[in-house]
Amino acid sequence: MPTMNVGGREESRQSRTHTTKRSSSPRMDSERAITALRNILELERSRAFTDQAVMGGLDKFIEQSMKALPWIRDVEPLRGTSYAVLQPGQRHRWASSVMGRLKAEYGDQKSSAPTTAYASVPAKKPPGKKPSQASSTRVKYTLDTPLDELKFIHKATRPKLARLDVTNLRDMLRLFPNRHVDYSQVTKISKVLYGEQMTVAGRVVRSDIAKIGPPPGAAKILINDGSGVLEATFFRQAYLAKRFKRGDIVAFSGEVGAFNNLAQMQNPEYDQLPSNSAASSHAQDEELQLTHAGNLLPVYPSTDGLVQRSIRTATRKSLDTGLPLLDEFLDDDLKQRHDFTDLKLSVESMHYPESPDLQFQARRRLAFDELFMYQLAALKKKTEWRDRRNGIVIDQSRGRPVVEAFLNSLDFELTSDQQDSLDGLLEDMSTGVPMGRLLQGEVGSGKTVVALSALLAANTSGHQGALMAPTEVLAEQHFLSISAQLQAEQLPGEPIDAVRHASLPGEGNRRITIVLLIGSLQGSIKNRIQQMIADGEADLIIGTHALLQEQVAIPNLGLAVVDEQHRFGVEQRGALTRREPRPHLLAMSATPIPRTLSLTVYGDLDITTLRVLPKGRKPITTSLANTNPTENAAYELIRRQVSEGRQAFVVCPLIEPSESIEAESALEVFERLSQEEFKGLQVGLLHGRMKLAEKQDVMDRVRNRHIDVLVATPVIEVGVDIPNATVMMIMSANRFGLAQLHQLRGRVGRGEHESYCILKSSTKGENANERLNAVLNHSDGFKLAEEDLRIRGPGDYMGTRQSGWDELKVATIDDVDLLQIARQEASDLLADGTLDSINANKPLAKELERATSSHFTEFS
Ligand code: ADP
Ligand code: MG
Repeated sequence: MPTMNVGGREESRQSRTHTTKRSSSPRMDSERAITALRNILELERSRAFTDQAVMGGLDKFIEQSMKALPWIRDVEPLRGTSYAVLQPGQRHRWASSVMGRLKAEYGDQKSSAPTTAYASVPAKKPPGKKPSQASSTRVKYTLDTPLDELKFIHKATRPKLARLDVTNLRDMLRLFPNRHVDYSQVTKISKVLYGEQMTVAGRVVRSDIAKIGPPPGAAKILINDGSGVLEATFFRQAYLAKRFKRGDIVAFSGEVGAFNNLAQMQNPEYDQLPSNSAASSHAQDEELQLTHAGNLLPVYPSTDGLVQRSIRTATRKSLDTGLPLLDEFLDDDLKQRHDFTDLKLSVESMHYPESPDLQFQARRRLAFDELFMYQLAALKKKTEWRDRRNGIVIDQSRGRPVVEAFLNSLDFELTSDQQDSLDGLLEDMSTGVPMGRLLQGEVGSGKTVVALSALLAANTSGHQGALMAPTEVLAEQHFLSISAQLQAEQLPGEPIDAVRHASLPGEGNRRITIVLLIGSLQGSIKNRIQQMIADGEADLIIGTHALLQEQVAIPNLGLAVVDEQHRFGVEQRGALTRREPRPHLLAMSATPIPRTLSLTVYGDLDITTLRVLPKGRKPITTSLANTNPTENAAYELIRRQVSEGRQAFVVCPLIEPSESIEAESALEVFERLSQEEFKGLQVGLLHGRMKLAEKQDVMDRVRNRHIDVLVATPVIEVGVDIPNATVMMIMSANRFGLAQLHQLRGRVGRGEHESYCILKSSTKGENANERLNAVLNHSDGFKLAEEDLRIRGPGDYMGTRQSGWDELKVATIDDVDLLQIARQEASDLLADGTLDSINANKPLAKELERATSSHFTEFS
């Protein structure tokens, strides 16, 4: 497959040396950069965000794009880290935000591929309604009226709102403020507490521009409230010096600091108060009395060039137009039972509450709505599944003997959890209802062998089975280890790297064909394998997202297993089973999800958990190496382990050094370690940009113990299974997320030997330390998952953005009570096993329909 060379190293060096001669204007340059960026992101998306769109990796390209698009590195979740270390789901999110912003700022350019996949909500334009015509006649608004046609919002404000993901009037109503400034809680300047968030109000006594930062500088505003003076500095907002004139009455809200013994605030929230709001408008030393109506002022999520004032005007007008259009969809009984406020009042009070209590009630009601819709959607889906007895029947009585023969051939016994979950799977698959199950279990808990047993049962009943892994390294490893467990052999005339042949255990002469399908296979081999899959010749199909490509049809698919399912994007996970009759789905994940979240995120999947680890696993000792002596001790430990015949991994976030990201790179560390610390040892190198054959060769040499120490990027994060490896050293560990650190650590401690994980950190960021501490203190994945949730909040939580939790704008992880109410009410509503009671409530059915179509695409 071709890789774009845009931004490759060669080109960048050239353009640097030739810039003086080239005559292209800056505008041209930025247009070119934007087009290139769009194309690259499209390509990257088509490759499932595997960082393969650009030679040299996307980080390099992003670095170059910064000239034209200086904000690009600040877009979450890339901010402060690098593309290379993000998970595919996070990359997807970043790319979507970037595309959204490009679209808002530069419009829809023709690009080589359609960009619709990035639109967060499909913008359905009512046909025949042109904005230009609409302005002259009276416009009839609906909640779906596109942002562009909302004439009551200033023309210049609209594109900026688009950047906040607003597409229509409904979104405007739901553009909720981040917080409110409570002007009823004004503190006298003489009483402010330093370091606290406070609101003060007073009369402007001085208003100047100061030469701080880039021109034209900053505004410095001094106010006096009769009890004292306070200075507000507005960096990069010099224009405010003109807006606030001497004698104006203003309120500032922000953190109070002190500078030269003067109370001050930096870039506070501000509001200009009507002069008559002060009862005493004469003498300066008289204290201000605020009688400002509407004390809770909303503070909205903002974006460059969009001031609070404009957002407030826009939301106020949107509420005036949009509130009457809202249809209540909760029935009165339900509202009474739980004391929920009405929909219209709730939406209004989210923005402009008359009291803190109303604001609280509003949030409670709307948070419930979200959780309720989620539960309803999940239960509805389950009901529909159950009704559709069109699943594939995998006959247990035929499958069991094969599975048992297979298990008997292994040199270990299943744990009781493994056995139970396997029984459950075989049961599920035999009923004729399509299975939808998540198998979660700690790294190393032995999920693969359970999945393989289920796949063999599917094969026995004459169906194809597929196992999809998130990386090529992992897919290859599955192919090799499954081949080994089934004692598979080469099929004469077929490439041994991708096709094997084995007997079905206990079935005498019955043979099955195992194939590997990954993107980087040679074209002719790939075609051959696609052919074998399409002909039904391939029984056990192992691959990456390459399995999802259109030309790959699996005609007789009985069971699809998605390994490390949290690493896949939403569309990819369900894609394998979106056909008739519907194949069974087994999703697997080593990333445990706290119960509150799993109810929501996986509402429509049944969950099985492997809690016990296979016998004989040794705990892993985790330590920190952030000083020279501890780092040296780490190298010494590795040398000692190697001398005892063990192996070690050293993982780095980057492939090669970067100018903008301070983190260790595999290439540099490999050079250094092989020449210095590990001179004389066999040191190997593995990263995502190596050719497939090279990667395979390296992994082979690791497996055969010809490599003592493997320096790698996180390509080895998932699934790699080398029981002889006992040390995992993670360089620039602060660059990794909690889940990744835990996964990496899980690469050791898989054999009989005592194992070690060493975290080397390169910065002192507080959150980073908090993360590292969590990994140091907890070895239990569930505990870590909860820590992660606490540190990051649910929005960013381990790929759940991908799974729908982030669709919840109002509800939070702490709304356990509301979640329970939502679950109860939803299951009561569907208690009779039909959808009748939902359909009887038209507004509810409509709301659910809307929520489902725009949000819950998972496993549909
Ligand atoms: P994960 O759940 O992280 O995917 P794997 O399926 O890769 O874990 O299993 C890790 C290792 O443990 C593999 O080498 C596998 O063969 C081995 N294993 C699995 N089940 C058992 C068991 N019951 N007893 C001993 N070893 C086991
Ligand atoms: Mg695994």
